Amino acid sequence: MNAPTAYRVLARKYRPETFADLVGQDAMVRTLKNAFASGRIAQAFIMTGIRGTGKTTTARIIAKGLNCIGPDGTGGPTTEPCGVCEHCVAITEGRHVDVLEMDAASRTGVNDIREIIDSVHYRAASARYKIYIIDEVHMLSTSAFNALLKTLEEPPEHVKFIFATTEIRKVPVTVLSRCQRFDLRRIEPEVMMALLRKIATSESATITDDALALITRAAEGSARDATSLLDQAISHGTGLEDGTTADQVRMMLGLADRGRVLDLFDMVLRGDAAGALAELSAQYADGADPMAILRDLAEIAHWISVIKVTPEAADDPTIPPDERSRGTTMADAIAMRVLTRMWQMLLKALEEVGTAPNSMMAAEMAIIRLTHVADLPSPAELVERLRDMPVPPPNGGGGGGGYRPAPAPSGSVEARGVPMATHSAPRGPVAQLAGQPDYLAQYATFDSVVGLIRAQRDMRLLVEVEGNMRIARYQPGRIEFQPTPNAAPDLAGRLAQRLQNWTHARWAVIIVNEGGAPTITEARDSADNALKDRAAQHPLVAAALLAFPGASIKVTPVAQKAQAAAQDALPEVEDEWDPFEDD
Ligand SMILES: [Zn+2]
Repeated sequence: MNAPTAYRVLARKYRPETFADLVGQDAMVRTLKNAFASGRIAQAFIMTGIRGTGKTTTARIIAKGLNCIGPDGTGGPTTEPCGVCEHCVAITEGRHVDVLEMDAASRTGVNDIREIIDSVHYRAASARYKIYIIDEVHMLSTSAFNALLKTLEEPPEHVKFIFATTEIRKVPVTVLSRCQRFDLRRIEPEVMMALLRKIATSESATITDDALALITRAAEGSARDATSLLDQAISHGTGLEDGTTADQVRMMLGLADRGRVLDLFDMVLRGDAAGALAELSAQYADGADPMAILRDLAEIAHWISVIKVTPEAADDPTIPPDERSRGTTMADAIAMRVLTRMWQMLLKALEEVGTAPNSMMAAEMAIIRLTHVADLPSPAELVERLRDMPVPPPNGGGGGGGYRPAPAPSGSVEARGVPMATHSAPRGPVAQLAGQPDYLAQYATFDSVVGLIRAQRDMRLLVEVEGNMRIARYQPGRIEFQPTPNAAPDLAGRLAQRLQNWTHARWAVIIVNEGGAPTITEARDSADNALKDRAAQHPLVAAALLAFPGASIKVTPVAQKAQAAAQDALPEVEDEWDPFEDD
């Protein structure tokens, strides 16, 4: 294959020589033109952008513009270098004595930079400016940057620096702050296709628009890559009657037929497992790599999701019109949750196919699983189903005194919910009953006291009671507890005061030294963990975890919503904790 030599030729042949040739970077060109016109030319420039967007090409055009003397030898710095004067020619050919190009990727050390710095003080040999072009400048070592910085701080008048980098974040701010920065954009598909068409025409090559679209998409905004691919594509079509077609480019790039991938995507979504498997093996027989097919499916899932959010995304000129309309139709028809789930499952499948001993087998399994994506329950539906499952009886035990320790998870949730649902804090006529011993009977357990605190919306007290009190003994009107080490010293007093205010009955809250059960928070945490462990073993959840890579189990008490609603329904209380109030 002689393509490599051929494409180098074409990429070089159509390398932009002037700013007018530089496609897709209008903003940068305008800024540079203004700077040159006003005579305010920066001492240092830095070009950043992905590979192949024209960073070093721009650097050379700037170098030419700075040193160009025009065809008659009398011109000054210009943004339209003549291309024929001795300096323009020498720079184009890469042999100008005053324009030094250095690749920082191969010369990262401080000594390499020192060479430059030492030569900075000698005047330019023949041209107006001595110009240093340093490519991949982010690769310089810290000491090299420091050495460079000294020169950048006080550069001689006749010296200009032009840096290029793909990773601007790795360039020290101290260096950046002394450079005029240009962000070279990815070249837009329309602009790229026009550029490729122009080159193809001047090469008298026949190539279809679909083929150019495929090249444009593969180049991902890099003009150099696109030109190289075009060169290969043209040589593939040489001597053929129709020139280069999309099929040839697809083969050259190892791409599956997008139309067929869309067919497969469609079958998967319709749940047509047999059809999808047949299509998969047909594409496999035609030479498509299972991994590539799944990657294409993922790309389509992403593409349709984007169209769903921003319909104008379908107007991508690199995608043939019939595919665009198919994409739009699918975006209308498919729910976002199905698309995101499909995306997640495809990522998982790609992982599996990559590691499976037989990638086709793994791909088939993935396709079968994917055909069920539309009728998989959503996470919310899963939770509903889980809730309807019979729950094993609570496993009691532990705890001391009259305090009922938090029983098994679901039970504890309901127990905490009960006081909320049945009665709120005593007020009005009910409150008048307060003080009578049998009234305290409704606070039969410590849980009901906690419920009262929650009902009164004293969230600070609630947190303290749940987190800092190890209950040793409880009976209505009397609480004995061991404080946790971080408990507030006045917790007992405050709790007694509040309970008395709310229930209009006397409460004894007593600190003891032993016999405390775990705090409510501790009990809840261990219950949550037990619930998670049990949930993870449930086949439905296990399946869900498998289907959603990276998913985790979160405990959401079923009664919580009802509780929250009940709380919201309660009237405001005056005795709410005020963060600015001393108590
Ligand atoms: Zn010139």
